[in-house]
Amino acid sequence: MKVFISADMEGATGAVDWDDVMPGKRQYERFRRLLTGDVNAAIGGAFEGGADEVVINEAHDGMMNILIEELPEEVSMISGHDGKGMGMMEGIDGGFDAAFLVAYHAMEGTTAAIMNHTWSPTLIRKVWLGDLRVGELGLSAHIAGHYDIPVALVTGDDKVAREAVALLGDVETAVVKHGISRYAARCLTPAKTAKLIREAARRAVERRGELRPFKPAYPMEVRIEFMSALQASNVSRAPGFALVDPTTVSFACGDALDANTKLSEVFRGRDRVFGPIP
Ligand code: ZN
Repeated sequence: MKVFISADMEGATGAVDWDDVMPGKRQYERFRRLLTGDVNAAIGGAFEGGADEVVINEAHDGMMNILIEELPEEVSMISGHDGKGMGMMEGIDGGFDAAFLVAYHAMEGTTAAIMNHTWSPTLIRKVWLGDLRVGELGLSAHIAGHYDIPVALVTGDDKVAREAVALLGDVETAVVKHGISRYAARCLTPAKTAKLIREAARRAVERRGELRPFKPAYPMEVRIEFMSALQASNVSRAPGFALVDPTTVSFACGDALDANTKLSEVFRGRDRVFGPIP
């Protein structure tokens, strides 16, 4: 029984500001430890629930955040960023039985959601898979769904937990903080969140057979609304991308992996193609 963990950071215990989660910033080293604690709690619960193998993929910023020296010997972890075509879900394949999204955050534009954004707070305002609006949670879940793997656990603030239930239905969630604004929350202590995450992770593995993979119907049109009209018009010049209104671009996708490739091209090109945000 194999569990795949995609670990972001904005949804980690106690994190409320970019100062907490960006390498080199004032609080980053503290919050690496707290993120590692959340991941360890999820690992512990997975093994208690019956998993015999756990693979973690680092999914935040440069994807080198978790302290591997604090993880148990039974797991392995994908760290680093270059050549990770699957991005936040690098390493997943049909051999896993359940996916966990740990320390995730709500989509851009969610009220009172800690550090809400979708991939880039300076580039992307909204993403739709067909008619369904999604954030990073949905984009990761639909890659798991491509391999018929259900997302069984989501951890983060109360808003990403709500987003998870709205999108995925009956999924286990562990709420580690209650958002007050984009940069303030009532946070539970690491001692408490470790218990909540561990229990939810155990239940998630035990209940994996009841949970359905998230599989939107392909082929479909995927749309991105950008922060600026300049960004949208730049992207719309690439082959296969069409402007549908001044800030929104659409493109046809054959399946979730195709959608991920095209979204990643847009995201990775942001500095090179777009320059400073007007
Ligand atoms: Zn992140």
